[in-house]
Amino acid sequence: MTRSPMTNSLSIRNPRSGKYDYEIPVTTAAEIETLAVRLRKSQDGWRDGGLDMRIAVLQQWKAELASAGDDIIAALQADTGRRKIAEGELFGVMGMIDRWCDQAPALLQTKQWNSATMPDVALQQRLDPYPLLGVISPWNFPFLLSFIDAIPALLAGCAAIVKPSEVTPRFASPVAETIARVPMLRDVLPFIPGDGRSGAALIAAVDVVAFTGSVATGKKVAAAAAESFIPAFLELGGKDPAVVLPGSDIDRAATAILRASVTATGQACQSIERIYVHESQYNEFVAMLTDKASKTPLSYPELSDGVIGPLIFDKQAEIIGAHIADATGKGAKIETGGEILHHGGGVWIEPTVLSDVDHSMDVMREETFGPLMPVMSYATKSEALELANDTHYGLSAAVFAPSEDDAVRFAEKLEAGGISINDAGMTAMVFEACKNAFKLSGIGPSRMGATGLTRFFRQKALYLNRGGVIPIEARAE
Ligand code: NAD
Repeated sequence: MTRSPMTNSLSIRNPRSGKYDYEIPVTTAAEIETLAVRLRKSQDGWRDGGLDMRIAVLQQWKAELASAGDDIIAALQADTGRRKIAEGELFGVMGMIDRWCDQAPALLQTKQWNSATMPDVALQQRLDPYPLLGVISPWNFPFLLSFIDAIPALLAGCAAIVKPSEVTPRFASPVAETIARVPMLRDVLPFIPGDGRSGAALIAAVDVVAFTGSVATGKKVAAAAAESFIPAFLELGGKDPAVVLPGSDIDRAATAILRASVTATGQACQSIERIYVHESQYNEFVAMLTDKASKTPLSYPELSDGVIGPLIFDKQAEIIGAHIADATGKGAKIETGGEILHHGGGVWIEPTVLSDVDHSMDVMREETFGPLMPVMSYATKSEALELANDTHYGLSAAVFAPSEDDAVRFAEKLEAGGISINDAGMTAMVFEACKNAFKLSGIGPSRMGATGLTRFFRQKALYLNRGGVIPIEARAE
């Protein structure tokens, strides 16, 4: 992405060809303010139309997404350089619409009961949606992460403005066309193209912000939201550990860890980024993981080849390269991969296994966001626990053990919100349970599970007194 100061537009790079072949404008603060005024007006009808109407509208949108599927997938392929995950994003969003449409009726029910302290008083728990949500999304799963928060918010009755990442904005155009074909929805769900300037302006214009991105930007978003006095739901980075306890099935562990580390070229918040294996199985595990990793080819030259796509954001290669150089400079050994490659204008890296690593190395402590699998040995379970928690992140984790009870006991002590047991990276596939981010990985109610929807409401209590009123004399001293 490069910026043209003359036109206030951005040129967008294609990750496979390296060509800057797409342009987007930067939406200004004044444009966002005007849009917000219009959306607040439309939101009245959207909220008052009721849940059944909103479900019907979202189902209609789902049908439009299906019919425009080829165009959306093509745009996502140009954004990200990958095919299967592009398809997965489309089906993921459509599945999300169905899941929330199924769950919303129960979650939105008004609850009523009589007070225990004043039995003549009936209590009604009402839900009042925030009028306008601002979504700010990252480049790694551009479509899915633009709608993971917007869909439940729309069902709650909010309007939403979506600002996709300026690194991967192509998908927005075919998706906006599907929205334009759905009356009602088109009045409450616009995209705004732009970079951080548009993101910052969006926060000033909305009532709640859902941000997915880096810790550095997340801190700026939190500060801006505090200034506007609005809630900010922040889903940030991770440095997820996988711990393989003694006696584990290491073939199973290596298979799961490889998939969870290198899917999407490691450009996923819930990627496994560091691995701890008991010293009794360390050598065997490293050999097994190395073998599996070296048989996982790049998706090159054709989109339909191999497994590992290009790096979407070319600058990420600098961080990945620096982590490898720092680790090898401090004694780590590259078992396979390890080189930043340049093919056809794209920047690539093969699945990379590093051994002989320790916590003096950046690769064990800072988010890499690439397909690196540093493997460290430990002697005792308490040492493994200390190492796994030795991080300022706390997004998710994985534990492998010969017994599920052992794994669960270990997981209870891990400082992370979503923990896969005898598998890894399950939070990317199963969305039904609530999970909070620990430490710098985020803040706010879970986007998964029931709070994924209920967080978009302010709760209201109505106190319906069906008995007599208390006179002032009752307050006499
Ligand atoms: P980023 O923080 O660079 O950008 C994210 C978004 O913020 C972009 O749309 C950008 O335009 C916008 N932005 C930039 N400056 C802003 C500002 N001052 N105010 C408001 N918005 C601003 O993140 P990225 O590089 O696009 O994404 C990668 C990061 O996202 C990684 O750290 C990854 O772990 C994280 N991530 C987290 C999750 C999760 O669910 N926890 C999911 C995916 C990605």
